[in-house]
Amino acid sequence: MATTFTRMDESTAEQWGVIGTESFKNQSRVADRVLGMLESLSDIVDGFATDQLTHCLQTATLAERAGADEEVVVAALCHDIGKAVSVPNHPRIAAEILRPYVRDEVYKMILVHQDFQGRHYYAHFGGDPDAREKHRDELTSDEWTLAEKFADEMKVERVPNSYFDTPKRREQWQEAIKKEQKDKDTVGAVALDVHGNLAAATSTGGLTNKRFGRLGDVPVIGAGTYANNKTCAISATGYGEEFIKHTVAHDISSLMEYGGLTLQQAADRVIHQKLKPGDGGVIGVARDGSIALVFNSEGMYRGAADSSGRFEVKIWE
Ligand code: ASP
Repeated sequence: MATTFTRMDESTAEQWGVIGTESFKNQSRVADRVLGMLESLSDIVDGFATDQLTHCLQTATLAERAGADEEVVVAALCHDIGKAVSVPNHPRIAAEILRPYVRDEVYKMILVHQDFQGRHYYAHFGGDPDAREKHRDELTSDEWTLAEKFADEMKVERVPNSYFDTPKRREQWQEAIKKEQKDKDTVGAVALDVHGNLAAATSTGGLTNKRFGRLGDVPVIGAGTYANNKTCAISATGYGEEFIKHTVAHDISSLMEYGGLTLQQAADRVIHQKLKPGDGGVIGVARDGSIALVFNSEGMYRGAADSSGRFEVKIWE
């Protein structure tokens, strides 16, 4: 329910009750917003050797490696998010965003981080390399030690990305790859019904360790999936990029439609003559009910059944 007042002095307790409840309910968006700000740093380089997102990720990794606790690691990850809005006052922006969620010394560590780092570069533009000293009285000795550790140990190094491979994360990644191989194989189906309708469907987890956002051939009609009542239904598996490049499923259908080939001939032509060995294969059924299971990979898990009693399951040739 939305409230309707247009002037603060006309608002009622009931309306503020609604605003309070709604704001509380939506508080969980904070994490998404912060992650969004963090992601937006990938666009900001400003003359540094890496973009600011990479820098934040590296800083958080250095903090984790230095044995920092979770709040410090999160703060390290977010320490430059203020740059998404404004560079000169970025430490305070980040510190205030983190403040309700971290202990005071972590908040202060972020608040003063630029002046602490100044030791390493303020002199280059006439600033005071000891700018950190002006915070001496504001910080307790524990806060000082943490701010110093952060600026001097966690935030200065620039190293090749391989440095950030941690055994635990590498293991998790390998596990994920194995799981992906196990759980996410491509499944395709083609069918002809008694009314002469042909249908094809394909589902996949894509290729192992694919780039995020990659689009394979499966959802591209004409590449990995295609059905046409005049010719055939095709579902493909293999290197999606090749199937897209050669519009494999549609090509098979076209060879039948315009070239008069049978499904088997058309599928053989495309899989064995256009694609490269190892690229993959297709299952297909034609409008006359004939079935083709053609591949140039080592094997292809496949099955076929028809109304005359054919029922088979195979992996290899
Ligand atoms: N063709 C799928 C793709 O490239 C993968 C597969 O068939 O296993 O996304």
